[in-house]
Amino acid sequence: MSRDIITLACTECKERNYTGTRNKKLETSRREIKKYCPRDKRHTLHRETK
Ligand SMILES: [Zn+2]
Repeated sequence: MSRDIITLACTECKERNYTGTRNKKLETSRREIKKYCPRDKRHTLHRETK
């Protein structure tokens, strides 16, 4: 059983805010998702990174 660990980084400040295993919800078309960035104190676009 293999797990792919992904990291979601804010595209604006580059902070890596979220980690997790690969998720079908995140795997749709683009691996970009709007999430809350505690550094920017607002929702920003987060992108999967390694
Ligand atoms: Zn940010």
